[in-house]
Amino acid sequence: MARLKPKVEVTREISFIQSACLSSIQVSSTMDDNKIDNHLLAALDKGERDNLLRVSEAIQFPRKRILYEAGQPIHSAYFFLTGMASLFVVAEDGRMVQIAVVGSDGFVGVPIVLMGTKSSSRIITQTPVEALKVSATQLVARFNESARLREILLNYSQVLNAQVAQSALCNPLHTIRQRLCRWLLIYRDATGSDSLYLTQQDLANMIGSHRNQVSLEVRVLGKLGLIQHARGQLTIVKPDGLKEASCECYRVARHWATDLLDC
Ligand SMILES: [Zn+2]
Repeated sequence: MARLKPKVEVTREISFIQSACLSSIQVSSTMDDNKIDNHLLAALDKGERDNLLRVSEAIQFPRKRILYEAGQPIHSAYFFLTGMASLFVVAEDGRMVQIAVVGSDGFVGVPIVLMGTKSSSRIITQTPVEALKVSATQLVARFNESARLREILLNYSQVLNAQVAQSALCNPLHTIRQRLCRWLLIYRDATGSDSLYLTQQDLANMIGSHRNQVSLEVRVLGKLGLIQHARGQLTIVKPDGLKEASCECYRVARHWATDLLDC
């Protein structure tokens, strides 16, 4: 299997001409230089990337926007440039468990390239997001034309699937503290930042546990000097310490990303 190129930044002429809509801020592609920093798009050859960019639309989402509900038809894919979103499975009583995270290392819309039509999870932005939107029809057309695009997107689908599978193992077998450390590291990788805006309820949803249990573990990690958490702002102070306190799930999922996407 050919390796993807290391993460690089490519540029594209985009002008953010904002116009409000119900669920997002739509922007159109025209003339100003702005960076595109999506690992999958960066791994494409310029011609193939331009073919995809030509049918894309720059878009922004605020924090806590539901991009898709489980069972909802998927009409568009989103290649994240900044920010991140979480994939949740949702119980009938409304409780949610996080199963994967998507950032600028990936895209939302994997079912499209697997010839599916619906989302299997609820997908919620955890930060403000800038993304490139491509319709399912256009993505399938480009996917059918380009062997390289097929390789990249299908490799990413394996990486995402590995993250979901690891979560299935992690949730029943590993401690709350280990899981908390794992997800904080994943969020850090997805956002490229040590500073995360996460409430106690966000943290509880993150690991599928109760708020009081999560609060206890947050205090422990704070006393160990690994993190600081106050008023919804969580700062990772010692990422290496978090890696030591995490279960093996973080390392295993990272291995898949490194092996298939070289990132
Ligand atoms: Zn685990």
